[in-house]
Amino acid sequence: MSEYDFDLFVIGGGSGGVRAARMAAQRGARVGLAEALGTDGLGGTCVNVGCIPKKLYSYAAHYAEGFDEAAGFGWEISEAPTFNWSTLKANRAKEISRLNGVYGNLLRGSGVSVFNAFARLTGPYGVSLATLNADGSPGHQAFTARNILIATGGTPHIPHFQGREHAITSNEIFDIEPFPQRLVVVGGGYIASEFASIFNGLGAKVTQLYRGEQILRGFDDEIRHFVAGEMGKHGVDLRLNADVVDIRKTADGLRVECEGGSTIMADAVLYATGRVPNVKDLGLEAVGVAQGAQGEVIVNAHYQTNVPSIYAVGDVTNRVQLTPVALGEAMVVVDQLFGPAAGKPPRSMAYDYIPTAVFTHPSIGTVGLSEAQARERFGAITVFRSEFKALKHTLSGSTERTLMKLIVDTATDRVVGLHMVGAEAGEIVQGFAVAMKAGATKAVFDSTIGIHPTAAEEFVTMREPARN
Ligand code: FAD
Ligand code: NDP
Repeated sequence: MSEYDFDLFVIGGGSGGVRAARMAAQRGARVGLAEALGTDGLGGTCVNVGCIPKKLYSYAAHYAEGFDEAAGFGWEISEAPTFNWSTLKANRAKEISRLNGVYGNLLRGSGVSVFNAFARLTGPYGVSLATLNADGSPGHQAFTARNILIATGGTPHIPHFQGREHAITSNEIFDIEPFPQRLVVVGGGYIASEFASIFNGLGAKVTQLYRGEQILRGFDDEIRHFVAGEMGKHGVDLRLNADVVDIRKTADGLRVECEGGSTIMADAVLYATGRVPNVKDLGLEAVGVAQGAQGEVIVNAHYQTNVPSIYAVGDVTNRVQLTPVALGEAMVVVDQLFGPAAGKPPRSMAYDYIPTAVFTHPSIGTVGLSEAQARERFGAITVFRSEFKALKHTLSGSTERTLMKLIVDTATDRVVGLHMVGAEAGEIVQGFAVAMKAGATKAVFDSTIGIHPTAAEEFVTMREPARN
């Protein structure tokens, strides 16, 4: 009989937690998992209020362009199409419920004990779950585990200012009622830019306010400027160097006042100003788990906290906040604790060449270094660039343009950055990310035969450097 109730107890049933629990159980470990939001929360942020519903809404928004562009291809749409927000919300909710069920079944099918409860650390090997007693009064259930994995994710953060109670976050926007005909989006990161595009496509009048010089700080500068211009052509009213000082409720809706005195009237104000780790009431301080300035759990290269039996992965560590990163980290932890899958080497995580997409309209796909980062790292770089109107838009009437960039380390000829703004950028860049990880040189790109006619073939046919 083991001295512990479980070999691994996972706190949080999101991307990282579910993956870790399932994989560990498949290796024969006795695993418990607690999800504070119950069965409806399984899948975490990504499934419930993140990647999946966001992408579904992005598909919905793309139809607007599709209808506009159809005439050039001979389609006569006799009546202007109308959009039913309730239908989209209901269909999304149904699909998300289905996914919650799939996650629950995967966990239970692997032998994981799933608890619908908020969990708190009570010691290096102890967790306490907030449950209800038979009479409905609050109770608790305590367990011990040889190892504990914190995978509690993050939550949206709204800064302090006058009227912040009138702002909503990405958690609420999916179900907002009624549809906001006038939407102000504050922020210039992934979420702000994606939702500005989505609601613009769905028919709202969208104003995006960003406090700095250009949205999407950290991305390649040329890509940032280009996508901002294209989003503007689609109808997003982007205002830069704009700081909100006050939101007031009036008879005509919300009055958003910016520094300098300009005002915008809105039906809803979406704040997408970053996320903070979910660590409230987790018991970290009592157990002595070290935290960073934002409350994030600090881990070493093995995802181990300063308390050796306690690990953490995903957004709660406030590093790269992407689902595939949380999944990758979870699998590394499982391999470390329970050994790799039969016949496989132990997994490791590398944080360079993580591909990512921003689902703006048009979208961004990127992997590797920006031009500025590459210049700083390598000194001598060669930049290849191609900007064009996609074949589809020769008939569609759309003025949307595509931009592709390759950044090459001149000394080694290795392609160290690949960036794109255009349709299906994420789908295109995913494949190139494999080549980049494998260390592909520009000569390898040049010797690769294109697929014609596609936009992606441009990445293997850029011959003349734009600059050195
Ligand atoms: P989460 O998925 O957040 O899971 C944490 C879980 O822990 C939650 O279910 C929470 O309820 C639970 N929990 C918290 N505290 C406790 C507790 N004390 N006890 C029990 N349970 C607890 N990433 C991408 O790669 N692609 C995208 O397109 C993308 N789009 C996004 C869009 C939006 C709007 C948002 C907000 C995020 C998006 N992300 C995207 C990021 C992605 O969702 C996260 O990086 C990912 O979900 C992190 O996984 P996680 O396991 O760390 O945490
Ligand atoms: P980000 O960190 O990407 O962006 C936050 C934005 O808010 C930045 O533009 C930032 O400006 C701005 N900001 C921060 N504080 C303030 C403030 N006090 N006042 C005004 N503006 C402020 O966070 P998001 O919330 O957009 O998304 C969180 C994470 O989720 C992302 O970083 C990403 O990892 C993940 N995600 C991934 C997606 C994908 O893969 N497609 C989609 C959505 C989210 P500044 O740049 O000046 O600091």
